[in-house]
Amino acid sequence: MRDFQSAAPDLHEAEPIPAAAKAAIETLLRSGDLFRYTAPEDAPVALLEREFAAMMGTKYALAVSSCSAALFLSLKALGLPKGAKVLIPAFTFAAVPSAVVHAEMQPVLVEVGDNYRIDIADLKAKIADADAVLISHMRGHTSDMDAILELAEAHDLPVIEDAAHSLGTLWDGNKIGTLGRVGCFSFQSYKMINAGEGGILVTDDADLVARAVIMSGAYEHNWKKHDIVGEMAETWQNRLPLYNLRMQNLSACVIRPQLAELPRRVRDGLQNHDYVAAQLNNSPHFDVPPPLPRETRAPDSIQFNLTDFTEAEARAFQMFAKENGVGVQVFGLSTDNARAFWNWQFIEGEMPELPKTRAMLANACDVRLPVRLTRDELDFVTGALLDAAMMVKG
Ligand SMILES: *Cc1c(COP(=O)(O)O)cnc(C)c1O
Repeated sequence: MRDFQSAAPDLHEAEPIPAAAKAAIETLLRSGDLFRYTAPEDAPVALLEREFAAMMGTKYALAVSSCSAALFLSLKALGLPKGAKVLIPAFTFAAVPSAVVHAEMQPVLVEVGDNYRIDIADLKAKIADADAVLISHMRGHTSDMDAILELAEAHDLPVIEDAAHSLGTLWDGNKIGTLGRVGCFSFQSYKMINAGEGGILVTDDADLVARAVIMSGAYEHNWKKHDIVGEMAETWQNRLPLYNLRMQNLSACVIRPQLAELPRRVRDGLQNHDYVAAQLNNSPHFDVPPPLPRETRAPDSIQFNLTDFTEAEARAFQMFAKENGVGVQVFGLSTDNARAFWNWQFIEGEMPELPKTRAMLANACDVRLPVRLTRDELDFVTGALLDAAMMVKG
């Protein structure tokens, strides 16, 4: 047997934060100016918003405490009524339906196919009753945005993009997160840009961003410190609650120098992913679904389906992979998995039968592939997975 364990790469180890962040933090610590609204202008958070909007090609950006906060504010800023029905894919992170519940709306789960993308037929079947579409690009897998945007437009529904894990992903050459009315991104440590925690929303809608700015906690006249149409925000001042979901300057200092790293991370992440995917697809036991034709991915993890494993065999595969030094999550097999819809018991009403999503989750595996991994480390991961499958299947 090969000695896997001793050489296993740490799949949770982060890439170092660029040195420029240290200098910016030192300046900030000397001044003690951690709150985004103390400086009259050009606070690090304000600069980040300007730079991020320019990078995405949107008119506005609003930095907040997390992507979940950005999703919550987006739903609130759309002015939807209490109890509004929000379509979401049944394969996503529990924070997404939670944001809908937090906004006092009703998540309606839509089936997801074995390529991890929303089932357009089920979306079609459910859209007539809905008030909004929140499309979560889970693990950076882009659903068919042409079909989704067309359907939403036909029913006059707003589209929110949960692009938490899709920074750098393109759809037909356009940036994911800029296709819907509003797009939300995460700076949590397991995403392309790592600030520990943090989020940002982007939009071209002046009224939506004005409302979101106020609700994010721009009390009194702090909205004047945003690059937005002042009158819009003034209209909403004191008419909307303050949820205080602001980003602080320290986070912006950690994020800003990473923006320039994004093209390299996206390029390396995609190369690494495709390198591993090609080898896994050589095995009859694994299937890595291809991207959609119009999609250019920006992955930092890999998902693949077990093609011919019983549940017991899938569990054994997970165990052998772990012994080989590579943690594999089978979404539907681990207890209390936050990405398995049957664990979202906080959603009111009866959970619908979602046989497609359930079947997908039973065989869908998840392995982190941080973009910094070397070819040798990627070979190690692939070898550990192929070996584990051999141990099960002989
Ligand atoms: C990480 C993630 C979130 C939550 O982001 P936070 O910044 O941690 O709130 C939501 N949706 C998806 C698809 C994610 O990957």
